[in-house]
Amino acid sequence: SDVILEVRNLKKYFPTKKGQLHAVDDISFTLERGKTLGVVGESGCGKSTTGRAILRLQDPTSGQVLFQGKDITKFSTHEMRNLRTEMQMIFQDPFASLNPRKSVSEIIAAPLRLHKLCKNKQELERRVISLMETVGLSQRLMNTYPHELDGGRRQRIGIARALAMDPSFIVCDEPVSALDVSIQAQILNLLKKLQHERGLTYMFITHDLSVVNYFSDNIMVMYLGKMVEYAPSEELFASPTHPYTKALLSAIPVPDIHHKKERILLQGEISSPIDPKPGCRFAPRCAYARPECFEVEPKVYQVSPRHKVACHLCADQGLPLAESSQGN
Ligand code: SF4
Ligand code: MG
Repeated sequence: SDVILEVRNLKKYFPTKKGQLHAVDDISFTLERGKTLGVVGESGCGKSTTGRAILRLQDPTSGQVLFQGKDITKFSTHEMRNLRTEMQMIFQDPFASLNPRKSVSEIIAAPLRLHKLCKNKQELERRVISLMETVGLSQRLMNTYPHELDGGRRQRIGIARALAMDPSFIVCDEPVSALDVSIQAQILNLLKKLQHERGLTYMFITHDLSVVNYFSDNIMVMYLGKMVEYAPSEELFASPTHPYTKALLSAIPVPDIHHKKERILLQGEISSPIDPKPGCRFAPRCAYARPECFEVEPKVYQVSPRHKVACHLCADQGLPLAESSQGN
């Protein structure tokens, strides 16, 4: 397999008045070229921060991010700037991320100008038109402004802007969450088509497991800065193992009546991510918690070749991975 991204023991802490906020706390995974890793969890679980730390939009506190074999956490600003052409991000709220005073063509042209990717005005215009075509935006919209367009078209601009530099890796942070359900499918289909045509690798961040199922090869479930489960998409849906994943899955309606599941409602308080207590961070809400869960942090267990779970319940069925490497 061709690994494009390897994340090792990534941590991102934020100092606060009350202590260290452990937004991302020792996350490791690998991502193969042309594949999609879905990253799922509730808001505040650290999924966006993970994406931003990988792209070094925020520098990680510690850990390594190997992109095409090179540890980019050591890259200078200049080296990072060159790498921007390879790694891009699509944001949840295209409106907030688009400059309202710039026209559609100026927005899409901006990264091409910044990185001097076109020789002259004619070439720049050709590139902009071709990018608009690629994302399904009519050339007529070139001189319109973001506020004149609906959410779906605005997200298409965000996608065109990300594609402008011909990246190989894109972090998609809740790219359809702000859109009407009817528009969501169009944007997801567009992202899929682009992946297929261009061999793109995606890290697809969402709180919505049904979206991620449609989209991902592998899924990583996060809870309060931790990876709690990682598996190929089909395996995660067929045999969710971590109690938190089970609760998340139970909330998705299934069309198959033979598969009727009971919805697991999570009770109990969410632990604080500031100077977290020892033990499992899910313990206060977990129906299976036992005394050790409040004292000892669970190891990551390999329950099948590509399926990992961080839960004491797996101690009997899985092989523990080395404590210092959660990754595969
Ligand atoms: Fe629940 Fe304990 Fe497993 Fe945490 S380690 S998910 S508290 S059973
Ligand atoms: Mg977020």
